[in-house]
Amino acid sequence: MTDGAGAGDPSPAILSDVAPAKVNLGLAVTGTRPDGYHTLVSIFLRLDLADTLSVVAGVPGGADTLRIDGDPDCPVEGNLVLRAVEALRTALLDGASLPALAFSLHKRIPLGGGMAGGSTDAATALRLALGAWGRDAEPRSLSRVASGLGADVPFFVASHPAALVTGVGEGIDPLPALRTRVGVLLVTPSHGMATPAVFRAFDRLLPPASGAAEATRSLAERWRAGLAGADLAVESAALRDANDLWRAVAVLEPRMARLRAVLESTLGRPVLLTGSGSTLVALYPSPDAARAAAHRIVPGEDPELAGIRVTATSDGHHQDEEPPP
Ligand code: ATP
Repeated sequence: MTDGAGAGDPSPAILSDVAPAKVNLGLAVTGTRPDGYHTLVSIFLRLDLADTLSVVAGVPGGADTLRIDGDPDCPVEGNLVLRAVEALRTALLDGASLPALAFSLHKRIPLGGGMAGGSTDAATALRLALGAWGRDAEPRSLSRVASGLGADVPFFVASHPAALVTGVGEGIDPLPALRTRVGVLLVTPSHGMATPAVFRAFDRLLPPASGAAEATRSLAERWRAGLAGADLAVESAALRDANDLWRAVAVLEPRMARLRAVLESTLGRPVLLTGSGSTLVALYPSPDAARAAAHRIVPGEDPELAGIRVTATSDGHHQDEEPPP
């Protein structure tokens, strides 16, 4: 978190922080709770790709505000940043009397892309709001607020480089940073996938016979013992078929299956689905290898590639770098 005000500067302090995206490596749907939520087993990997959120505290009693740039389709109304602050105010005894907060959000994470852009913004908003108010939240109360905002929010609040995530997102078993960076190539179609619609389609289909839960748990075991980026890239073939939501996504949006086929033939390697889509992911032994692969995707070469967004990134926290000060 950075503080933009210098010593003796009369202007209010600006606090800024990144809100990193995640990809799912393996995603097994293990059941449905009585409230309709699905339980999952999945590895979440934090990425270098991130939104940036800043905040300035104003006067008590004013309205919290949000300005967004970087993606004209990201709504201010109902935005998870504002919902997060509202929920935090409600959870704090004197929340209503704390200063109004003015947020600025720079979006880089594609909307509806299965990389939890809204959830990570919410987690960063909670952290920045507490910083701007000079408050600490009691961990149990913060985790209740986080789960109330969305299933992926607790992972980002916990701030681990990766985790084996279970239940509806509340089971977070931290995994260590990779020993060296993995290259992550993201291909996001122009259309998003609405997560609730994908789960409804999943429920209509016969249960998958896949071994996604075993594959995901067994990767987590090897990860705990220490994994380099190149080791993770080798797992691509096993992970490709370890997302139980793929069939539902392909039924709802046949374009996804066609895009995956074109990418696998262009890149010559397995292509994974993150979350409920719509982003497709290829893993490489290094960030340089992912950047080089990005140049092989030429949108004009195939109608299925029209409108796609290609991003080469890597995991967001690794052992080969100095820890932040
Ligand atoms: P998930 O995988 O968690 O379902 P996603 O990555 O597929 O999420 P998001 O981009 O997080 O999808 O958000 C989906 C919808 O949530 C958007 O279309 C938008 O209307 C709404 N939303 C609210 N706040 C935000 C935010 N800060 N950033 C992005 N989307 C937001």
